[in-house]
Amino acid sequence: MLPRRRQELPPTAGLPLKLGDLRPGPATLTADIAALLGTPPLELACSGTAALLIALAALRELKPSRRRVVMPAYTCPLVPLAVHQAGLEAVLCDLRPGHYDMEPHALRAACDERTLAILPTHLAGRVADVDDALAVANNVGAFVIEDAAQALGARRDGSSVGLAGDLGFFSLAAGKGLSIYEGGLLAARDPELRERMARTAARIAPPSLGWELRRSVELLGYAALYRPRGLRLAYGNPLRRALRRGDPVAAVGDDFSLPLPLHAVGRWRQGVGAQAARRLPAFIEACSARAQRYLPRLRAVPGVTVLDDPAGTHGTWPFFFLLLPDRRRRDAALDQLWQAGYGVSRLFIHALPDYAYLDGIVPAAAVPNARDFAARSLSIGNSAWVTDTDIETICEVLAQV
Ligand SMILES: *Cc1c(COP(=O)(O)O)cnc(C)c1O
Repeated sequence: MLPRRRQELPPTAGLPLKLGDLRPGPATLTADIAALLGTPPLELACSGTAALLIALAALRELKPSRRRVVMPAYTCPLVPLAVHQAGLEAVLCDLRPGHYDMEPHALRAACDERTLAILPTHLAGRVADVDDALAVANNVGAFVIEDAAQALGARRDGSSVGLAGDLGFFSLAAGKGLSIYEGGLLAARDPELRERMARTAARIAPPSLGWELRRSVELLGYAALYRPRGLRLAYGNPLRRALRRGDPVAAVGDDFSLPLPLHAVGRWRQGVGAQAARRLPAFIEACSARAQRYLPRLRAVPGVTVLDDPAGTHGTWPFFFLLLPDRRRRDAALDQLWQAGYGVSRLFIHALPDYAYLDGIVPAAAVPNARDFAARSLSIGNSAWVTDTDIETICEVLAQV
C-alpha cells in the first residue's frame, strides 16, 4: 500500500461550512437555491430519498393502477428502498456498456402500461440522457423523475438539470456538495404538480423534534470535521476499520435500512444552508475548473476512461469517476490507494441485485453491464485540498497497475 498521506482527502467535494454559517439566519434556503439555479420554486425535504418518496407518493395518486418504477441497475441503494417504502415495485434497467445511462433497448423492454415512473440518473455529477427516458415515458404514459442527487448545479442547454422530466430531485447530504447534513430538494415545472408535492410533503413528512435535534448535532459535526484536520476522524478511520473487517459496503456508507426517515427540516438548518449557498456558484465553478485542469492528466493514463458529459451539457465535478480495463486492475489500484488517504474510493459497491439486504426489494436480474460498471470503476475526490502532487501520485499508481 502507498504510504499514508499526511492529511486525509475526502472522496467527494463538499462545500465546507464557515463559523458564520451557523449563526441563526433567515430560512431562505429553497428560495435562494431556486434563484441561483434559475428553477421554479423548490420543495425542501429531509433527504434526497425523502424527496423521491414524496414524489412517488404524489404521482401514485395520479395513476393509482401503476406500481412499477424503472431505475438504472447501478445506482444508490436508497432509490429502490424508497420505491419499496412507497409501496411500489423496483424494476431494474441495465446500463449502456461502460456508461452510466440506461441502455435504450433494455429501457424499452422494462417499461409498459404498468410503469409509474422512469428515473434517469445524473450519476457522479455527469448529465444523463433524459430525452430517451422522456421518449419511452411518453409512449407508455409514465412520468419521468430525474435523479439529480449527485448533480446540484449541473446544466443542460443552459438550464438546471431536474427540469426536463416531470420532476427532479437533488440531495443536500453530507459530501454531496452543499449540505445541511441530510436534505433534499424537489423540482417540478408544472405548478399543479408542485402544489400536489407540497400537500403530500405536509402530509407524510411532519415536523419531528427528535430528528431535527439529531440532524442539527450532525450538521455541527460536519461543520467541525469536514476539513483536512477532521477528515481522518470523520471519514478515513471508519473507512479503514470497515475495510479491515472486509465490509466494503459499510466502508462507502452503502449500508441502509428501512424505514427511511420522513420529517420536515427545521429553520436553523435552513438558515445554515442559505448562508452557505451564497458560496455555491463559486464552489461549483472551482470544482469545474479543477476538473478541467486534471482531466487531461487522468486521461493520459493508458487504459483509463474518465466519464464525461454529452455535448451541450455541463455537469458538476464532485469527484472523477473512472473505468479501468478490468476488475483485477481496478482492485490492484484500490489496494494501493483506497486506505492511503488520497480520496480514492468506490461509488456504489454493487449493481443493485448484488446487495444482500436488497433481497426481496429488487428483482434478481441479468444486468451484465451494471455489474461490469461496478467491477471496473473507482472514484477520485475533487475537493479544494487536492494538489498536483496528489493527482500525479494517483496517476502513477494507475499507470503501474
Ligand atoms: C445519494 C443519492 C440518493 C439519495 O439522496 P440522499 O440525500 O442521500 O437521501 C439518490 N440517488 C442517488 C444517485 C444518490 O447518489
